[in-house]
Parts: sequence; structure tokens; C-alpha cells
Amino acid sequence: MNYISTRGQAPVLGFEDTMLTGLARDGGLYVPEAVPVLSQGDIAAMAGLRYEEVALRVMRPFVADAFAEDDFAAMIARAYAGFGHPARAPLKQLAPNHFLLELFHGPTLAFKDFAMQLIGQMFEHTLTRRGTRATIVGATSGDTGSAAIEAFRGLDAADVFILYPHGRVSDVQRRQMTTPDEANVHAVALTGDFDDCQARVKDMFNDFAFRDGVNLTAVNSINFARVLAQVVYYFTAATALGAPHRPVSFTVPSGNFGDVFAGHIARRMGLPIKRLVVATNRNDILHRCLTTGEYRTGEVHPTISPSMDIQVSSNFERALHLAYGGDGGAIAQLMEEQRSGGFSVSQGALQALREIYTSGRASEAETSAAIRAARERTGELLCPHTAVGYHVAQDHQGATPMVTLATAHPAKFPDAVEAATGIRPPLPPRMADLFDRPERIARVENDLHAIETLIEGNRAA
Ligand SMILES: *Cc1c(COP(=O)(O)O)cnc(C)c1O
Repeated sequence: MNYISTRGQAPVLGFEDTMLTGLARDGGLYVPEAVPVLSQGDIAAMAGLRYEEVALRVMRPFVADAFAEDDFAAMIARAYAGFGHPARAPLKQLAPNHFLLELFHGPTLAFKDFAMQLIGQMFEHTLTRRGTRATIVGATSGDTGSAAIEAFRGLDAADVFILYPHGRVSDVQRRQMTTPDEANVHAVALTGDFDDCQARVKDMFNDFAFRDGVNLTAVNSINFARVLAQVVYYFTAATALGAPHRPVSFTVPSGNFGDVFAGHIARRMGLPIKRLVVATNRNDILHRCLTTGEYRTGEVHPTISPSMDIQVSSNFERALHLAYGGDGGAIAQLMEEQRSGGFSVSQGALQALREIYTSGRASEAETSAAIRAARERTGELLCPHTAVGYHVAQDHQGATPMVTLATAHPAKFPDAVEAATGIRPPLPPRMADLFDRPERIARVENDLHAIETLIEGNRAA
């Protein structure tokens, strides 16, 4: 399968090179040239299968020419073996027609593990076979970084450098990044916010000399392989609830738009998803854009759901690319306008987006109230990101089953949960000593040269 850039000016690549490249050389994001469509029979046959088997069937058409089927099955098996639940992504009923998809049973307690664990295995396979090493950089608002460090720690083929906004991630998130002691993984605290981290990562990719010199690659949600791994749980959840014979809707707590865009891919593959509800916290650029057609960046406000505290939502570019009928020139133009504050989505494209997406937002008070309400009504403790989804989902309930994605474990954000409910959720036993392990942190200013120097000096090879 071929992958093309959303901006239309970068080389067409196969799956492995798309995965290793991350950001396209024209600044765009790679997307499949055509999304494979599964038959109703193929989808119906997934009901009740093991997660790993569904993963193989959903992802195989995207990777078929890159990995032998046995190899790919083995990578999937290794990726999910460390999860703390046999269903991997169990579905729990909250109310009539409302379900919670628990995506927090991986090693770092957030949904990022689904993609990152698999990406670690795929990188190791491809780089080893090619006899090369890579330098992986990523920006994180907390959960991506811990998932990446956990997925790559101790692997032979890659060094990992994760930039996170100093002082703006939770203690659990930070410690998950700073306590692994393997020499190939590095947590880097940047003076700035998440968008600064993300911007510096993009700058490194646009510095071609540096990029080629260290064999730079990214595992941010701009990496299509990550989006792909997240498509799988839309299939397991929807088929458990009656798809393909019955449509299902999803509410997705969103920031960088990767998770909800994976639902868009699932829908194009033939899964009957009626609505994808984009749930945002008070950093509501996605909600405003889907409501008004105006994408205007502003200031980032820190919230109790920090993994959604962003103003530049990278993966939205992929949805725009589809909504503009694959017109790379139009996307390049919009992204140029974004650099100077924002853009307007055309009427036709907005209509195309609204056929799939609706949206809502939760204020800080509404998020806390949702944590409390869920506890009282259902007995569940929700993390604040999930609570944003829970709040927004209430406004979109109807005859179609609604699945709200539980994106992190409540113990990852214990302060917010305790403030709302009086209950401090404990870490699962396998992580109980997290606060006793020594931390290792590099500090850096929001300066491209300083960051590049740090990386060049700390690679293993
Ligand atoms: C990353 C993250 C999100 C946002 O997901 P996107 O793919 O960036 O939209 C929501 N909740 C949690 C807990 C996360 O870690």
C-alpha cells in the first residue's frame, strides 16, 4: 500500500518508510492513498474474536507488503502481552445504551499504549532487518511520552528523546518518563508548553542536515502507524455491540485528534459508525472549528485534563485532507494560514466534516461534576479526560449505542479525581513503587539548537 502526504509534495512511501519517516518532507502528514474497505461479512466475523486476532485482520491490508503475516502476528502478540486485562480493551456498560471502552490497561495506564507498544515492536523489526538505528523524538503533553519510553526501553535499534512541558504534566506521568533507567530512553523537560514542544519537534524535522545526521524519526500521533493501531478498538467495540448489523457512535476525548481520526478510518473501512463526537476541554479549538468553520489558535489554558491542553491539533490536517477531497494544495495553503493565526474551512469541507463529526466541550467545573456524577450513578471512577467525554456524551445520546472512550486510568490523575469525589484512586499493584524509583531528567530551554545539541551528545551510537 502507498502512503501520500496531506500536502501533496513529498515522496510516496510504503508502510515501513511511512512509519520510520513520521512527518513528511513537505511538512504534511502521511495518509494511505486509498483506505481498504472490509466486507460486511469480514466485519461480522470479528465479533467475539481475541483482540490480537481482530488487530491482525484490521491492520493487515495496511501493512501487507511490509511484514510477513507470521511476523506481524508475533509483533502484535508481544505488543499486548503486558496488558493487565485479557480483553485488552474491555467494554463496560454505564447506562442504557451508553458504554465505556476502557483503554487504560496497558503499561502506562493510557490509551497511547495501544499504538506505542506495537510501534516499538514494528520499529525494532524493521530497523534490525535493515541493519540501522534511529533517533526517535517526540513531544508529549504527558501520556505519549511515557508510553513511548515504556515501549522502547531496552530495545536495540533506537534512542528515544521525549520533550515534555516542564511543570505541566502530572507526577505520575512525569515519573513514568523519568524513572526507566535504560540508556536508550531520555525524558527532556522543556521550558514552555506542549505546543512549544510540538513546534520544536517539527523544527527538527525541517532541519534536514540534523534530521539525516541522526536518522531522526517521530512516534507522535502524526505517525500513521499509531493511528492505524488505534483503529482496531473501534472494531472490537462496535462488533461487540452489534456492528455491522447495527450502527454505533463514539465519544472521544480529543486533543491532537489522533484517536478520533482513527475512528474516521474505521468508518471508511466500512464499520457503521454513525457519529464521532469530538469532546474537548476548555481548550476547545476543535469544537469551535466544527461549530463555526473557523480554526483560530489562541492561548493554551492548563486544565485538569492536561493531555488535551493544546491549540494546534496536528491530526486534524488528515481529516481536512479527506474533507477537501485529497487536494494537497488546498491543505498546504490552510496550514500556511494556520501559522499566522488560523483559517476558515470551506463550506463544502465543513459539510463533509459534519457528516461524520459532531462536538462538545466541558469546562473545568463540568469536568469535575462529571467525575462526581459518574461515581454516583455508576460507581465508576473516571479520569478527567474520560470525564470530559462522559459530560459531552450526555448531549449526544439517542437510539444508537454510544461508546465513550476511557482514555486513561483514574490513578494517573489522582488529584483531580480526589478533588471531585474525595476518593484517591490507587495505582495498580504493578506500579505501586513508582514514587520510590529515582528520576532522571534533562532540562532544556525552548531553543532548537540547545535541543539538537543535547540529542547529538546523548545518543548511544
Ligand atoms: C492523548 C490523550 C488524549 C487525546 O488524544 P488525541 O489523540 O491527542 O486526540 C485524551 N486523553 C488522554 C488520557 C490522552 O493521553
